[in-house]
This record gives sequence, structure tokens and C-alpha cells, in this order.
Amino acid sequence: MQPSELFMTGAAVALPSAGISAEMFIPNAPLAACRLCGAIYQTKFHRELHRYRQLGENDPPELLAKVLDLGNKWREGHTKYVHTIKEVEDFVATGWFLTPEAANVLAPFGIFGLGNMHVDIVESMLESSRKPDLTHLEGGE
Ligand SMILES: [Zn+2]
Repeated sequence: MQPSELFMTGAAVALPSAGISAEMFIPNAPLAACRLCGAIYQTKFHRELHRYRQLGENDPPELLAKVLDLGNKWREGHTKYVHTIKEVEDFVATGWFLTPEAANVLAPFGIFGLGNMHVDIVESMLESSRKPDLTHLEGGE
């Protein structure tokens, strides 16, 4: 799947009132997300890197390397163990940035695709729950 820079993160909708603390997930911190199913991966290291950036400090090289490595390993494992090759190939053939299913899962977390927005994707985001589904979040505390 693609790196998180292909996603835009919006305001943290109502994450605290949905029971999602900053120890579990920070929407504008680095993350990895699956464009097929909307699974999200963000560890305490991703959030630690975000805190350095908020302070205006340079990324600590070892921390940045760890975050990139964790994200790459997660993407590789997630794609391999959760999705079939045919699923991935069928998705790639659509030319879409993400599936309507992924858009529906990610929107409540404040994550929106920046790629092409087919009407099905837009409708799926509009119809998504206001409350994020925590079963799609991995790496939280
Ligand atoms: Zn997936």
C-alpha cells in the first residue's frame, strides 16, 4: 500500500468523546493505512515523532528510521496476510486511490484521501459513522 503522505488528515473530529485518547491515536501524526480496507497503523513511536515535529525540532534520525521501518513492515504484513493477490490486483486495476470501504472506515478518524475521488468514495465518506471503529486501529496503546 502507499505511504501516509497520500492521505490528508483533518481535524480530530470527536475522537476524545469517542474514547480515543492521544495515547491511542493522533490523526495528524505519521501513520500507515490500507487503501483496500481502511486498517490504520500508528504506534507510540509515530506519535513520539509527531511531538518532536510539534516542538519544531528536527526528526531524530533513529526515531524516523524506526517509524519508517515499522510502517513498511506493517504494510507488507497487512497486505500479505489480510488481502489476497487478486484483491490487490483488482484494486490496482480500478485506478482508484482507495476503496469506498476504506474511505468509510478512515473518514471518522479524520483521514481523507487526496487522490481521485469517485462519487462512490465521496458518498461512502458522507455515509460513514461519526464514531471511529477502533477495530481498524492497530499499534495503539
Ligand atoms: Zn487492508
